[in-house]
This record gives sequence, structure tokens and C-alpha cells, in this order.
Amino acid sequence: MCGIVGYIGAQGAVDIILDGLRRLEYRGYDSAGVAVLGSGGLQVRRSAGKIKQLEAILHERPVEGGVGLGHTRWATHGRPSEENAHPHTDCTGSLVVVHNGILENYLSIKERLQADGHHFRSETDTEVLAHLIEKHTKDGRSLAEAVKLTLREVRGAYAVGVISASAPDRIIAAKHGAGGVVVGLGAGEAFIASDIPAILSHTRDVLILEDGEVAVVRRDGVDLSTLEGEPIKREPSRILWDPIMAEKGGYRHFMLKEIYEQPRAVTDTFRGRIVPESGNLILPDANLDPATLKALRRVVLVACGTSYHAAIVGRFMIERLSGLPAEVDLGSEFRYRDAIVGPETLIVALSQSGETADTLGAVKAARTRGAPILAITNVVGSALSREATGVLYTHAGPEIGVASTKTFTATMMACYLLALYLGRERGHLTPEEGQKRLQDLLEIPRLMEATLELDSQIAELARHLFQHQNFLYLGRGLHYPIALEGALKLKEISYIHA
Ligand code: GLU
Repeated sequence: MCGIVGYIGAQGAVDIILDGLRRLEYRGYDSAGVAVLGSGGLQVRRSAGKIKQLEAILHERPVEGGVGLGHTRWATHGRPSEENAHPHTDCTGSLVVVHNGILENYLSIKERLQADGHHFRSETDTEVLAHLIEKHTKDGRSLAEAVKLTLREVRGAYAVGVISASAPDRIIAAKHGAGGVVVGLGAGEAFIASDIPAILSHTRDVLILEDGEVAVVRRDGVDLSTLEGEPIKREPSRILWDPIMAEKGGYRHFMLKEIYEQPRAVTDTFRGRIVPESGNLILPDANLDPATLKALRRVVLVACGTSYHAAIVGRFMIERLSGLPAEVDLGSEFRYRDAIVGPETLIVALSQSGETADTLGAVKAARTRGAPILAITNVVGSALSREATGVLYTHAGPEIGVASTKTFTATMMACYLLALYLGRERGHLTPEEGQKRLQDLLEIPRLMEATLELDSQIAELARHLFQHQNFLYLGRGLHYPIALEGALKLKEISYIHA
């Protein structure tokens, strides 16, 4: 989930948008793009890689106008590339959409739209929004009405911005479940952004959208309403944060921010993989066809560091839910021995970045022996995802804190999904058991929220304990790897022996 910046006013939109995107750069991203409405109509420039590369393209083929949207992408659906970079256009090229988040039911919508003659140019989930809005505006609706109708049809999480040549005096923005949308108000100009730091140098007066709200943003004001069209009255708030505080969303440091992002991160891990209507669990990119699944005799999980601890949790889940014997290997150990693996062994390689050298080395060795390899990683298009035969992305979003937090819980969630999938597909779990486990899993984000609410009690405990020199974490069964990870975290963060 990355950055969105939009501008409408008397200044050139491009410079303001690029400046805003640069201020969100610290969050990490894989591609960037802008769209601007001006005398040349609606023009889009996009690039894989860094904002610098986008700037080079803009230098060669400049765009001008007072209304625009920009985006930095952290891929979830479709590899990082120019075609998949946002903004995405409809068939006519006269409206664009930028989006953060994941649309769960995009495939069925895409198929329907393709059957109606819509031509898709990217592999993203996002592009369906542009085509659906196009379809609804053709039916004679205003842009805002078409956006609302579109968003009522999609399921998932989104922060979106939309501009159209047919309504050049407005930006439409909306959000549900994913990241944020703030609308910044200036004198004769307005801004939208996914995060406050992007616009803080222009204005401190903002309206923060809540889930299910839509903003129609014009130079001289904003109208807020619900997706159903109910008007909302809200006074702007004044943001007093300094730019450094704003980067961290008001938290004292990124690690704390990411700890609080866990309920969202684990939800994004199962988002789109559980079909609520049918109670099905699907892992489309895992590439585990029935023949491969049937041939499996064991699972070997390979990882390093925190991912190694998540893998030990994964072993418990896989053995319990799928009935397959499972082992865990350190990436560095696996690659330096003649591990006996073949097509009957599923290798599950776990790495947040997808670039951990030892884990990659292990995967390469296993691949030459014909083993199917499933990568569990946070980074779409990473070396591990390319090396593996299938992939299960955690979708936890960029992690800035050096000691991983949300990555650990999202990786465990991915292991649970895999274990449940293997158990259901191989018939080890009865349909009722499978259903029960799925229901339990849906409770996890809420339970995480409830746990995070204990923060003041946890702080109190920490105040009692912090002067001790040695800590011993105890746990057995599932809690053994949790104890290992707890000790690792304490060592990494406090340099206290554990
Ligand atoms: N799911 C969208 C994509 O893969 C949005 C990614 C983002 O949040 O940056 O393009």
C-alpha cells in the first residue's frame, strides 16, 4: 500500500504531486506515475522504478495542467512494471484512477467487463475501477455517482483518487479499509493524499476520510458523503504535527506504527483468498495443481531469522491441519548439505524481502531436484517469487522498522492459510472442520485489536522489568517459536541478553 497525491488549483499540478510523492518515498515503492488534466487533455506518464525515472520521462515528454493525480505503487496484483503502474485509464483514456489496497472480487468483475468489450492493459486489480466507472458514466451518471456505484460493487480495501476530462473541476476520493485519504484545504486550491506528510508543506487544514466515505474535491471546497449518497458534515481539523511526526502517523517511531498496523496487515493476507459466499479458500498464485498436491509426501520450510521462527509455527500448523510431515530448515544449512528432496517434497521458502541470499540459495538447490517451491514473501516480483514455482504474497505492505513486527504475524497468517488449504484440498480436514478453522481465522484481526488495546498495561509491565539484565522466554508447542521470536525482538531492540 503506497502513496497517493492529488492537486486541484491554480498552480502546476505536476510539481506539487511529485514533491508530495517524494515525501512519501521513505515508505518504499516499486513504480510511480502521474496524470494531469490541462489544455492538452488528460495525459498520463508512468515508470517502473524510482520517482527519478518518472521525472526523466516527464522531462522528455512534459505534461501541464492544474488538476492531477500521482501514485507510488507497492504491487499486490501484477509485477512491478510500467503497464501495471498507476494511474490506470478506462478504454477511452479520458478518466484515470489511482488506488491503494486490494480488490477481492476484481477477477469476476474483470471477466464481466471483458465480455462487454472492455480492453484491459494491466495485470492489476485496480484497472477494473476505471472500466466500471466508465461503464456507469456512459449510463448518464455524474462522475461522483459513477464512482459511488463502482465502489459499492467492489469488495476489498481501497483508498482511491479519480479524475476525468468530463468533470475537470473536481477530484473524487474515497476510502474503505485500506490506508488513508486526507483532503487538504488551501486558498483556491485543494489536495488529496494517502498520508499527511505529502501535503503538510501546503496546508495544515485537513478532512480525514472514514471508511465508506467519498469526497468531491474542488478548488474552493469539498463535499463529503457516504457511498450511499448520504451527505456528511465535518469541520476540517488542524494538523499540528511536525513533518517527522507526520511521517510516522503520530506514532513515536515506525516500529510502533507497524505494530499497530498488524490487524490490517493480517487481514490483507487473507483478503481475496477467502470467498465468503462459498466459504472457499483459494490460493491462485500458489500453483499447486491437484496432481502436485496428491503426490506430496512432506513439506520442508526454509527461512532465516524472524521468517525462520514463523516457519516453525508453520510446521505446527501444517502437521496439524494437513497431516503432512513437516520440517524446518535454516536457509544457510539447507544449501550446504545434500538435502533429499524431489517432486514429493513441497519446499516453502519464507522471506519478507524475497531477497534473502541463503533462502534463495536453498530454493535454487531444491529446484534442480524437481521439488515444487512455494514462496511466502511480502514483495511482488522479488527474486524469491521469480525463483519459486508458486507464491503466496503476505501483502503486509512495506516495513520500515528494522525489527520486523507486522511481517512476522502476516507470515504466520500465510502459513495458516497454506496449512488450511493443504488440509482441505488433500481431504485431511472434513468440510465442517475446514469451515470452522476458516471462521476462527476471520476473528484474528479483531483479537489483535483487542490485544493492542492492552498497550498501557504492557507499558506498565515494561516499566517494572526494563532494568533486568537477563530475560528467559519460555514456551512449548506453538509458543516455542513465539518465545524464540520474543527473545530475538528484545535483543534487537534493547540489546538486553535474552
Ligand atoms: N493492488 C494495487 C496494485 O497492485 C495497488 C497496490 C498499492 O497499494 O500500491 O496495483
